[in-house]
Amino acid sequence: MSVLDSKVPKGPLAEKWVNHKNHINLVNPANKRNIDVIVVGTGLAGGSAAATLAELGYNVKTFCYNDSPRRAHSIAAQGGINAAKNYQGDGDSNFRLFYDTIKGGDYRSREANVHRLAEVSSNIIDQCVAQGVPFAREYGGLLDNRSFGGVLEPLQAAPVIIEDGAFIGSRCIVVEGVRVGKEAVLGANVVLTMSTKIIDVTGDEPVETKGVVPARSVVIPGSYTKKFAAGEFNVPCALIIGKRKESTNKKTSLNDALREYDVAV
Ligand SMILES: Cc1cc2nc3c(=O)[nH]c(=O)nc-3n(C[C@H](O)[C@H](O)[C@H](O)COP(=O)(O)OP(=O)(O)OC[C@H]3O[C@@H](n4cnc5c(N)ncnc54)[C@H](O)[C@@H]3O)c2cc1C
Repeated sequence: MSVLDSKVPKGPLAEKWVNHKNHINLVNPANKRNIDVIVVGTGLAGGSAAATLAELGYNVKTFCYNDSPRRAHSIAAQGGINAAKNYQGDGDSNFRLFYDTIKGGDYRSREANVHRLAEVSSNIIDQCVAQGVPFAREYGGLLDNRSFGGVLEPLQAAPVIIEDGAFIGSRCIVVEGVRVGKEAVLGANVVLTMSTKIIDVTGDEPVETKGVVPARSVVIPGSYTKKFAAGEFNVPCALIIGKRKESTNKKTSLNDALREYDVAV
């Protein structure tokens, strides 16, 4: 069996490439012109590397073939680039770009390399600009920049959390950061958004909450009457009609709950 050696440098994740860069041998400027560097492909990566290395004094040879200009993805790109510039002051950072890229890569990317990508992103975009790559700009002249990722929710948004042992019935919808507590039971068709009223009807008075289904609650879809300009209409809500018993094991308590409260799943 062959083992893939990615040759990622040693050390803590965030320092691997910085350490490596700090410890590799430097080339005497006078020797640079004696070194041939071959660059294959002249998209943004190859083109900018070739220009940069040539400017440093290396003897650069570039090779590229294009059956059509669109062969270079750099020509096809839509104009955005990920760089943690944080011009908007919205908390964008190297870490957020790192984390977002790891998530966007379905956790399969090499983390140290992604970290390096994030930490050099701000400089790379400046280098691209200096080398003539056009980017959209604000009227004030700054790069038109925003916090943006393939996968991150807006900073304020929370993920939906379904805790251990919860039972989600058929055709349920749980969105917008709603939290379903441990071993809770959602009957068929329960829809929970952050604005859905969750009404506990097990006591003398209804108790209303939003966004959280307490642990072991048994929930079914319901509706309440709401006044609008055009009259009164029924609006969907979720009703907590009972609790799964803590004393019995999960399987038995789920069956009990479904039978006892006649919950469709
Ligand atoms: C439609 C589209 C939209 C995109 N939009 C965005 C965006 O908005 N933002 C963003 O950040 N990214 C975007 N991307 C991704 C981004 O364009 C690429 O990741 C990036 O341009 C890759 O740059 P590159 O220099 O590595 O490769 P390329 O730009 O693809 O350059 C590779 C070059 O090498 C040449 N070549 C290949 N094989 C050989 C060979 N054997 N010998 C010689 N030459 C060879 C090719 O012809 C080509 O010219 C987009 C990509 C596409 C296709």
